[in-house]
Amino acid sequence: MFSVFNKLSWFFKEHWIRYSVAITALIIVSFIDLIPPKLVGMTIDAIQYNQLTAARLTEIIMIFTGLIIISYAIMFLWDYNLFGGSLLLERKMRSNLMSHFLKMSPRFYSKNRTGDLMARSTNDLKAIMMTAGFGILTLVDSTVFMLFIILMMGFTISWPLTLAALIPMPIMAFIVHKYGKVIHTRFTEAQSAFSELNNYTLESARGVRVIRAFVQEKQDFDRFSNMTEKVFQKNKAVAKMEAFFEPSINILVGISYTIGLGYGALMVFENRISLGDLVSFNVYLGMLIWPMFAIGELINVMQRGNASIDRVDKVLSQQPDVQNPAKPAYVAVPEVIDFNHVSFSYPEAVGKQLDNIDLTIHRGETIGIVGKTGSGKTTLFKQLLREYVPPKGKLTINDVPIDRFTLESTRSWIGYVPQEHVLFSKTVKENLLFGCGEKSVEDIHHILESASLKEDIEALPKGLETLVGESGVTLSGGQKQRVSLARALLMDPEILILDDSLSAVDGKTEANIISHLRKERQGKTTLIAAHRLSAVKHADQIIVLEDGKITERGTHEQLMKQNGWYKEQFNIQQMESEV
Ligand code: ADP
Repeated sequence: MFSVFNKLSWFFKEHWIRYSVAITALIIVSFIDLIPPKLVGMTIDAIQYNQLTAARLTEIIMIFTGLIIISYAIMFLWDYNLFGGSLLLERKMRSNLMSHFLKMSPRFYSKNRTGDLMARSTNDLKAIMMTAGFGILTLVDSTVFMLFIILMMGFTISWPLTLAALIPMPIMAFIVHKYGKVIHTRFTEAQSAFSELNNYTLESARGVRVIRAFVQEKQDFDRFSNMTEKVFQKNKAVAKMEAFFEPSINILVGISYTIGLGYGALMVFENRISLGDLVSFNVYLGMLIWPMFAIGELINVMQRGNASIDRVDKVLSQQPDVQNPAKPAYVAVPEVIDFNHVSFSYPEAVGKQLDNIDLTIHRGETIGIVGKTGSGKTTLFKQLLREYVPPKGKLTINDVPIDRFTLESTRSWIGYVPQEHVLFSKTVKENLLFGCGEKSVEDIHHILESASLKEDIEALPKGLETLVGESGVTLSGGQKQRVSLARALLMDPEILILDDSLSAVDGKTEANIISHLRKERQGKTTLIAAHRLSAVKHADQIIVLEDGKITERGTHEQLMKQNGWYKEQFNIQQMESEV
């Protein structure tokens, strides 16, 4: 359980000054807190023996006031440093998680569900943060402060009385240990139930249109209710255990009091301690309640923190499966991309999704990649984007194997326009400038023209400054595609990849965009995957994929002479467009 401190030791080492100040201040305050009860006892004795003079009373009041002021200042010191520390830890862990998420490849996201990752970044971080703040407080209070009180009771009042009043303590330690274990298990279960719920909520919110279209609201709500119920039950189980725990401690404290008062009164009668001592003793016993509870709280916080840090570490310890090479190669411009007998299978898939691909792409060429859905077009692009471990065979850029480059360098060459466009909840302009920083207004307008987007943007209420995405204006599928295209064009990348990115625009607009692309992309490499063959007709080379294999290749004219899939498909599409 205490291993959580070990797991966080890197952080405590980094902020050792802050924690030294906080813990020292806590210990000093613990010591100062011991003085007032003793003063009360002494005053009572002075009253009893008629020794209390005005001067003595003034002195006692002065000491009291002084102690209050000193404690105030020192309490500020520990409070600020300790809880400030836990906020720092939260910030640190959160940015660690975020940078980890950004590094991870698609495989990680297919293994870990978004809702679960979110739960780990919120709930679990809070539990860890509690450990570094409240955990330390309870640790000091349940050890140092408790020891101080016991020593004060024993040495300044009476050891027999102290030991007698502390008889319930070992029982308490036992209970704390037992409850702690159960709380840990139940808390872990509650956290996983919350993760599941989170995931479900996210999916429902995203898929709300489909849910409505299929009239699944009730079923969805029922499933949601079941999950909420589960989270509720699991948390209730934790709360129940905690609720059992606190009264048990209370009973033991009550027994302590009874012994203290009964045996103490007897000792006063026998003149072994004074009346003032008895009063001080009982105040000390009262002061022991918090440290005893603090043990419980400590166990609680530690168990939760430990469970949470394990959950977070489990995410952080997953290495991205595509890593930068130790000694990266460098080339300024990718002149030749060569696929030589390249085969690839997805980690969890059966068979090959790319099978023995041979393809050479020279700088400045336009390559068309066509084939049925699921034939492997996106998979081919993913090899260049390096989302998975390198494929079998040789994939080189300027004769250097692609995995010898850093991910940043290969990706910086590529402007990728995916099938599933992603727009952020920002203005159109911010979405456009996403990958390239600042651009002049002329550049932006020029690109809008190339992506046939000018009129669409002008029709928006605030033009380029219109908010789009989840919280803004909803653009049509075709408009979103063209914004993603414009975003990639603004980067003016060495290699532009259009992954069926014009599927939602009409034929005329597509023709317009293609004719602009041909002009814009002169001298640079463009890879186009498309359903509509008219989008690749102009390409220098067209390949037809089927089940991950290249079945036909050539220019449009050459392919039209072969009696293959291309010709057949082209004729069908031609007829359709005429109709
Ligand atoms: P296309 O882009 O031509 O429509 P894809 O490259 O997306 O085709 O898919 C090729 C094949 O790989 C399909 O059979 C698809 O089911 C499979 N596939 C795609 N992505 C994954 C993945 N992440 N894991 C396993 N199989 C995948």
